[in-house]
Amino acid sequence: MFKKVLIANRGEVACRIARACRGLGVQSVAIYSEADRESLHVRMADEAICVGPPSNAESYLNMPNVLMAAVVTGSEAVHPGYGYFSEQEQFADALQMIGVRFIGPGPDAIALMGDKAAARAAAASAGCPMVPGSEGVVQNDDEAMRVADRLGYPVIIKASAGGGGRGIRKADSQEDLPIQFRIARQEAEAGFGSGDLYIEKFIENSRHVEVQIIADTFGNCVSLGERECSIQNLRHQKMVEEAPFALLSEESRREMGDAAVRLAKSAGYVNAGTVEFLMDEDGQFYFIEMNTRLQVEHPVTEEVTGIDIVQTMLRVAAGEELPFSQDDVRLEGHAIEARITAQDPDRQFAPSCGTITRWDPPEAPHVRLDTHVFPGFEVTPYYDPLIAKLIVKGKDRAEAVDRLRSALDEFHVEGPQTTLPFLRRLVRDDRFVAGRLNTGFVPSFLSEARSDDGA
Ligand code: ADP
Ligand code: ADP
Ligand code: MG
Repeated sequence: MFKKVLIANRGEVACRIARACRGLGVQSVAIYSEADRESLHVRMADEAICVGPPSNAESYLNMPNVLMAAVVTGSEAVHPGYGYFSEQEQFADALQMIGVRFIGPGPDAIALMGDKAAARAAAASAGCPMVPGSEGVVQNDDEAMRVADRLGYPVIIKASAGGGGRGIRKADSQEDLPIQFRIARQEAEAGFGSGDLYIEKFIENSRHVEVQIIADTFGNCVSLGERECSIQNLRHQKMVEEAPFALLSEESRREMGDAAVRLAKSAGYVNAGTVEFLMDEDGQFYFIEMNTRLQVEHPVTEEVTGIDIVQTMLRVAAGEELPFSQDDVRLEGHAIEARITAQDPDRQFAPSCGTITRWDPPEAPHVRLDTHVFPGFEVTPYYDPLIAKLIVKGKDRAEAVDRLRSALDEFHVEGPQTTLPFLRRLVRDDRFVAGRLNTGFVPSFLSEARSDDGA
């Protein structure tokens, strides 16, 4: 095992990784920006090093500084967490050149899956069921029109280099298509430095179901089961996630797991990754993308499998064989995660900053809180608004929903506005309680709430 690992991230995930290191007897090194000097991840790590001023570009995304931090601290490996450098093959490449291990897949797999149009081709070759769509990148309006006419409306236009819900536009009709195509291109260029777009058929009333896999360097690749993440905001960002997907048959579970493992193997994939699918109303599933990193919602999988995913990532990166086989993976009970962000539900989820003056999280059996926040913590405008992930477990979904409701009711935060009031309403909705979900649920929930207010 490594002696020392640098954590190239901040916030709850940096704390999560520091804890995993400690559990393995590995020394951890935190990096921090000038705005994060007092942060919990800095205190939790064995060492800490400042990498620059508050803005992400000058600190957490300052590649020379982060690489230098790994070198001067004598770190043998770097865990990138999610976001930041986690899906940048240049970073994995640069680490390779300076002889520091990247805790994640190789640069080639990152590059392949990071190009979502190319990833579609790889998934199709690996025998994954695919959403009907364009073959690769669509060059111009004319081609977009031809593809969309063939697929039938509505269609969805996506940035090939996109992620985090950005660079995605739905087009409902021929008239709408050129407008959305132009907006998507602008967003893609601004957000990802590439205007490459591809088109898929829009799957109506679909659920987002994803498979967590992990592979070692000995050719073993195991599925850790699925998560359902259909509770997404208007910008396709996940808000609530659960494991397993309560309505999935054993047969579909096996098929999805097999498809995900086949894709990972065909890409020579090593370490943790997630293969994302959409499931239509008939239960047919289709590949949409692969994320080559630890995901925000990994805790729900940990809760139902009993496997520490972050520790397993370190083991695999250090050259150990996976300590379990597919037959060892058993899904037990049901887990739900709610993301608590410093955003104001009453103002279209606009970021809300300021000092946390009250922080009373729930403390109850079967409740896990992954957070970096404490009383007196200042939420700044520089970073992702995620302040905590509340994870509950029950013997089945109904028990997990009950526990989530109680835990949210007991959670008191003052200072910035948070999504807690929104989540409390959400978990009382009949459709949520019954598990009748799809990716259009939050948008309709919000518009119903608005018309109730107006009444
Ligand atoms: P995951 O696929 O792990 O669930 P998401 O899809 O929510 O993660 O987000 C993908 C990436 O985008 C993450 O690395 C996260 O840091 C970033 N991200 C998520 N939500 C936001 C947001 N509201 N603003 C900016 N970045 C975000
Ligand atoms: P990102 O890289 O931003 O995570 P994804 O390709 O994973 O983008 O898509 C994000 C979300 O957008 C999905 O979870 C789903 O809600 C919606 N979406 C993506 N593709 C489709 C599609 N073909 N039909 C309907 N909804 C889609
Ligand atoms: Mg996605």
